[in-house]
Amino acid sequence: MEILAARVSRLSESQTLAMARRSRELKAKGVDVISLSLGEPDFHTPDVIKEAAKKAIDDNFSYYTHVCGYLELRQAISKKFKRDNNLDYDAEQIVVSTGAKQSIANAVLSIIGPGDDVVIPSPYWVSYLEIVKLAEGNCVLVKAGIENDFKVKPEQIRAAITPKTKLFLFSSPCNPTGSVYSKQELEAIAAVLAEYPNIYIIADEIYEHINFIGKSESIGTIPSVKDRVITINGLSKAFAMTGWRVGYMGAPKEIAKACDKIQGQITSATSSISQKACETAMQLDPSITFPMRDTFKKRRDLVYKMIQDISGMKTNLPDGAFYFFPEVSYYFGKSYNGTVINNGTDLCLYLLDNAKVALVPGAAFGDDNYVRFSYATSEDLLVKAMNRLKESLALLK
Ligand code: PMP
Ligand code: GLU
Repeated sequence: MEILAARVSRLSESQTLAMARRSRELKAKGVDVISLSLGEPDFHTPDVIKEAAKKAIDDNFSYYTHVCGYLELRQAISKKFKRDNNLDYDAEQIVVSTGAKQSIANAVLSIIGPGDDVVIPSPYWVSYLEIVKLAEGNCVLVKAGIENDFKVKPEQIRAAITPKTKLFLFSSPCNPTGSVYSKQELEAIAAVLAEYPNIYIIADEIYEHINFIGKSESIGTIPSVKDRVITINGLSKAFAMTGWRVGYMGAPKEIAKACDKIQGQITSATSSISQKACETAMQLDPSITFPMRDTFKKRRDLVYKMIQDISGMKTNLPDGAFYFFPEVSYYFGKSYNGTVINNGTDLCLYLLDNAKVALVPGAAFGDDNYVRFSYATSEDLLVKAMNRLKESLALLK
């Protein structure tokens, strides 16, 4: 008899976390690796948020809360959704969890069962597919290439819908491509989805505040679909709070209730201290995040220029998030010292070994003609990393 359940062998390890682990291991051995693998802001959590958490500890706010988060927190999130996104979710429609990742998992597990279809624009964020697999659903991928700024067209979505489709799942600003859907583009997508009243929409807006072209738009504001939109967000990116583990969703009541039920049996609520920190973050004017966004934009411009200097990499100019997703097929078939590069995964392994720079293979996001790098690190390290990449890539003949 197999020791492990079949779902474990069906599941792939998170490639973002795997590359981060590999570079940590090399660093521990004394290798000077620059990791551009993990999407994690290198800033500190704002002091005012840290103070709120310290106060919560001193006030002994140390007991179980409601599974979905305590009421005043959910009220603060409801106000944030209205203030920043013009989204109407009342406190009963909010579920706070241990990160946007868990919020997505809760929502998918609530809606998707064996054989149900989920339409996902590709490139997609690495965990979407694996979460759908855990729910025993099928992913129906809708591909968008670099020539369309990685944005899918409404007619592609229509063509992907089957009688079994229950969910449309996407991120904007997008991880890994940095693409940001405009209000008009979201309206065109909503117009198609409005024709299918049984399809829910998960809008992953975790990069909301890391947007270089203005305010991020939410599909949940569009009247024809708003009753079916689950909006996911969290503190990890905008407030540099990856380790605090707080995410949240606004959802139709039936979905919020289902997520509360699932979470109640698996994790209970997230940490009470992190919840207090989250309440403060929700009350802050979003302008507190702008200096971080502006720094990311400077880094984006710097890296964009340096990529232009590498003839084999083709990239879009990402409008948000903090990733580049260049096309690298120019290097396929080339080799160095007997190492032949056949795809993005081979290229990442070669670059880790030769340049000591950790990237993530595009395969993790749906296309192995690409690689992803995160520019959430200092300008000095970015310049050093890009120079190393350029040198190592030039060795491939
Ligand atoms: N969605 C996207 C698109 C992400 O890049 C990430 C990575 N942080 C998450 C969700 C999960 O974030 P969290 O740390 O809140 O679980
Ligand atoms: N979301 C980040 C990334 O894509 C963090 C890693 C993860 O949560 O998988 O790199």
